[in-house]
Amino acid sequence: MADLQQFLVRFWGVRGSYPTPGPRTLRHGGNTSCIEVLVGDQTLVFDAGSGIIRLGEALMQRANGQSLRVALFITHAHGDHLVGFPFFAPLFAPQASVEIFGPRLAGQTIEQIVTPLMSPPYFPVEIQRLPSRRDFYTLTEGSSITWLNKEGRAQVEATDRGVLHHALKKTDKAQQVHVRTLFTRSHPLDGALVYRIEYAGHCLVYATDVEWGQGCDPAFLSFIEGADILIHDAQYTTPDYQQSKHGYGHSTVAMAVDVAQQAHVGELLLFHHEPTYDDDQLDRMESEARQRFPRTRSAWEGLEINLLGG
Ligand SMILES: [Zn+2]
Ligand SMILES: [Zn+2]
Repeated sequence: MADLQQFLVRFWGVRGSYPTPGPRTLRHGGNTSCIEVLVGDQTLVFDAGSGIIRLGEALMQRANGQSLRVALFITHAHGDHLVGFPFFAPLFAPQASVEIFGPRLAGQTIEQIVTPLMSPPYFPVEIQRLPSRRDFYTLTEGSSITWLNKEGRAQVEATDRGVLHHALKKTDKAQQVHVRTLFTRSHPLDGALVYRIEYAGHCLVYATDVEWGQGCDPAFLSFIEGADILIHDAQYTTPDYQQSKHGYGHSTVAMAVDVAQQAHVGELLLFHHEPTYDDDQLDRMESEARQRFPRTRSAWEGLEINLLGG
């Protein structure tokens, strides 16, 4: 089926830390982390920052009353990655099925992490009372997720880091969607998951809330090697980082460029923009990155990239 031949990423929220509406951020957008990936017959969503609210509305419109199936992947539990979750429209729709994936943090499963966000006194409606179907999957180090088809439930397997590349080659030929995970520990206090999405010989990596101040983790470089698109944390300028942001768990533009070069990625998308930087500042950071890695773009709300070309 022709419409299954798709691998499209769409940005709904690109800001880090907190939403920044207003005239100074109009071009890049002020919503926090959320990207949509339409791949094969799957609709994948990464992070539930404030950007997920408008995405949820769009998904409901597209479904037009028919059944809707979404897989939501959470990197970690900080507010800028979950603030939109209670307002994600498919959760309130009886025809919607939402698979929710995320790490175990501070000893809690992903279900235990998100449930309080939709429970009194923080929210008036309990998640358990919502009419949607929800399945929670707590991911462990090296988890790998596949779906047999649109109707099939996700299959989650543990994959040893050491055999990752072997596993990739074996499944290359399959027209299946694969999501692989790597747990990074550079982001305080509990780290964050990095996701690698593979389909039809192409690859997208979503790596936010990572910091490479002490040099990049070789396991990370190996994990992102050869990605067509790398979406990478690039929150700070080098001077700001050196002055006061070391250890905050975010990268500079220079760190993002370093890993893009070392891992031979096709294109670098600067992501998780510092909330106090305006559009002009982000433009300057993009120009600076392009001097070393020409195929760089500063992510903006509404940007779409088709990995299958055309
Ligand atoms: Zn964040
Ligand atoms: Zn964070």
